[in-house]
Amino acid sequence: MGADADSLIRPLLRDLHGYVPGEQPKIKGLIKLNTNENPYPPAPAVLKAIRRATDGRLRLYPNPTAEPLRARLAKFHRCAPENIIVGNGSDELLALAVRAFVEPAESSRSNKSRSTVQFFEPSYSLYPVLADIHGASKNAVPLNKDFILPAIEESGSSWDSRAALTFVTSPNAPSGRGYSTSVLENLCLKQTGVVILDEAYVDFADENALELALRHPHVLVARTFSKAYSLCFLRVGYFVGHPALIAALNKIRDSYNVNGLGQVAAETTLDEVSYYRRNFKRIRATRARLVKALDRLGFVVLPSQTNFILARPPKLPASAWLEALREKKILVRWFPYPAVKDYLRITIGADSEADALIAAAKKILAQ
Ligand code: PMP
Repeated sequence: MGADADSLIRPLLRDLHGYVPGEQPKIKGLIKLNTNENPYPPAPAVLKAIRRATDGRLRLYPNPTAEPLRARLAKFHRCAPENIIVGNGSDELLALAVRAFVEPAESSRSNKSRSTVQFFEPSYSLYPVLADIHGASKNAVPLNKDFILPAIEESGSSWDSRAALTFVTSPNAPSGRGYSTSVLENLCLKQTGVVILDEAYVDFADENALELALRHPHVLVARTFSKAYSLCFLRVGYFVGHPALIAALNKIRDSYNVNGLGQVAAETTLDEVSYYRRNFKRIRATRARLVKALDRLGFVVLPSQTNFILARPPKLPASAWLEALREKKILVRWFPYPAVKDYLRITIGADSEADALIAAAKKILAQ
């Protein structure tokens, strides 16, 4: 036969650059401050619930619509279960949204907006990848200096108020900047397409915009149990929004998209919110301390509303800092993109991890 395997793959995929996740350490004992995980474990009751559910029932399929979890989330957010869809992490739902609301560019040549996925740059680097996978057009709109949201009506802005889908990471990643609900609502009101407010980090912020998903039919809010609720390993995220949009996403979702242990863990998490709120406070306190200490060492640190900071290091290029810190067994994240290449993104770990980072930075500066 001797078929050329590459010729079997869709041309669109041949040139596609897939999403690059944060590095998983191969060396033991590394302090991992590169993927915004929570330094604190899930609540004891959550671990117990997972253990209790780990028995012969693993042979059964989980609830296909995550019904009990959606009922709990609906209570938590004062809405109806029909307003909620749960995903295998919020990443799955972001991908479903592109498939549900955006035409591939080929099929809508006469109306570019119908095939446009719009997002700010820099923001979550998965969005352009999702657009590329779908064969959609991308509209990457630069953030202003210091990663501030630009005024959409600014002349010369390339903003498309008819874009089929607009992603707004709020608070922003990787800058950590928060946006007020009124600014976000103004932006949403200008859009005729769907707007997804990706609130992956919102529990570390001063305010959230969930109400916008319940007030405006074209707005969806994305949340995750990964970051604030220490459940990255189990992959549970969800959208809140208008039942019609949620129903459209449901049509194209895999039948059993959310694993059973993840559903059990997320349900129990909602019984333990006070445990997690204490952790949010601790992380915010560590954040304030770390910002001050790095500031004193000459780093330029952007104000953060998340569980990470974006900091421009002194003396050496950011990529050299990445390697120097790795030598000292601390892993942070550096992105090779023009807008952020001079910065390091550093996850707020536990106090001891922040102390180790500060000590390592002092040593690097003294070298
Ligand atoms: N949105 C943003 C902005 C993120 O940084 C992440 C995590 N990389 C996600 C969504 C996805 O989170 P998850 O799939 O773990 O729910």
